[in-house]
Amino acid sequence: MGEAKRRKQDAFTKAQLEQLEQVVERVYKRTRAGIEAARAAATDDERGGHLAAIHGATASVVGALTEDFFATDPTGPDVQKQIACAKGCSHCCHANVEVTIVEAIAVARRVAEDSVLAESVRATAPKVDGIPPWTRYDFRIPCPLLRDGACSIYDVRPRVCRAHVSYSVALCEEVLISGKSRSLAPIVTFGWPRTVSKAIGHGTIGALDHERLQSCTVEMTAAVAHILRTPESVPRWLRGEAVFAPYGFGSAAGAAERHSM
Ligand code: SF4
Repeated sequence: MGEAKRRKQDAFTKAQLEQLEQVVERVYKRTRAGIEAARAAATDDERGGHLAAIHGATASVVGALTEDFFATDPTGPDVQKQIACAKGCSHCCHANVEVTIVEAIAVARRVAEDSVLAESVRATAPKVDGIPPWTRYDFRIPCPLLRDGACSIYDVRPRVCRAHVSYSVALCEEVLISGKSRSLAPIVTFGWPRTVSKAIGHGTIGALDHERLQSCTVEMTAAVAHILRTPESVPRWLRGEAVFAPYGFGSAAGAAERHSM
């Protein structure tokens, strides 16, 4: 597909822009309600449940609005035919996964139920913690939640994982796992799900800011490992403490370990 045609497809209609505004508003309200419920909860487990439910209720919007685009946009059928993503392809699971803290809490809750997954996250975290996003590809480190070429937490996977919709398997492979990312142009992906994902992120972060909670994005594997190691970090975060390393910076422990690799 030519670049000009792709740009045209990424120019959204007035109705789609209104949909995005509604997403921001709905996610903002849902996140604030979830935070309120978590604060009122009697136990840490209940608190975690309310926070994870925010992600459950909001991330699914990426898939729902993508389906809506295919069904209602005049370019939808043509775009759908160009989508290269298919079951069994996992090149995109070799990139940094930038998530909100709410998403990290939801993923950590699922990972904590499976000791093998938890160990996999713990082992991978020092390797990815603090790697600048644009060099992660060069390390060719698979996501620790990837099992037999598929996502093992598919129903709670982060927004960005849902939003990576590629037009070219070959380009994904070249950029994401060839180890030559610095010399290549970025992957061109379908803009609508990416934009919906960003709208969800804006709504979530706006609500966290309003609630005076640490609202930076974080690297998923590092943040999940942090929560597994120190589960009390979740109630501390909910009390307003800044307990997570912002995305792209990472912890000193991660950097030290990586440099000795
Ligand atoms: S969370 Fe799942 S979809 Fe996302 S990078 Fe990891 S294995 Fe892939």
